[in-house]
Amino acid sequence: MTGTRRSLEEGEDDLARLLTAMPGLALLARTVVGLRPRRGEPGIRDSHVGGPMLWPVDEPWPRCADADHGSGRSVPMVSVAQLYAADVPQIPFPEDTNLVQILWCPTPHALPEPQFQGKHCRVFWRRSGEVVHGPGVQPDPWEHWNEKWDEVPRPCTVHPKLVVEYPWWEELPVGLRMQLKNWEELFDLYYWEVSLTTGWKVGGSKSWASSDMPESLDCPECSAPLVLLLQADSCEDLPLVSENPDTYLCTVTGQHLAWGTEEHALAREPTGCIVDDAAEAGIYVCSADPRHRALYFPQ
Ligand SMILES: [Zn+2]
Ligand SMILES: [Zn+2]
Repeated sequence: MTGTRRSLEEGEDDLARLLTAMPGLALLARTVVGLRPRRGEPGIRDSHVGGPMLWPVDEPWPRCADADHGSGRSVPMVSVAQLYAADVPQIPFPEDTNLVQILWCPTPHALPEPQFQGKHCRVFWRRSGEVVHGPGVQPDPWEHWNEKWDEVPRPCTVHPKLVVEYPWWEELPVGLRMQLKNWEELFDLYYWEVSLTTGWKVGGSKSWASSDMPESLDCPECSAPLVLLLQADSCEDLPLVSENPDTYLCTVTGQHLAWGTEEHALAREPTGCIVDDAAEAGIYVCSADPRHRALYFPQ
């Protein structure tokens, strides 16, 4: 979900106004990890988006065998993110694991309720020290997928940063939700500016702006609530530095980037991957045991 153009200071003012008008909100603040991917050449021992994975030599690379690809045919999934506990300790790693790897099939498929039009995804939890890496196992995605159309994230290094956010508005307690619904200006501030963190992130909530939020998000294996492991986003809102000319702050390098330049486009859309028609999507895992089957939800 893309907000309107705001500077860092305006963003802080917006939040202060909301917390004054709705003091109950303060208790719902939660800390998430903004991954801030930037185009690069990460290696198998790095946390990254879209890069080469530390993959066991004796484990076949996952494939998608959805009927959309043709009967009896399967296609290789692609690397979405690989994150080490040393870089993102906030991830709920199962005991004795320190590496999570997320893959998806770049093609959306018709999936059963509650995913509807979503993606097949796989999440692997590993103990990195025990992996004997197989250099040739991960396929080159461009031998199978189209650079222009398919949702294949380009290799990016990540720059994790803790960010405070607030729940998607439909997840708020009913009193606060009604207060927002009855006060349009507050609602717009909350919805567009304050509540959710844009860009790739770990934890928190994602937007359900274009699809109905499911009444309950439960693990298909044990019915425990699902939690957002990873948000994949088409772009990341950068804070506005000045309006004339339109210039934005790269929060990783501190550079000022003019709208329309290649540098600005690369900082705003670092993965070169348009997720779900310029929206974002979430990969959810079970809160009781993240090794249970992960689900992908589009916006
Ligand atoms: Zn597929
Ligand atoms: Zn479960």
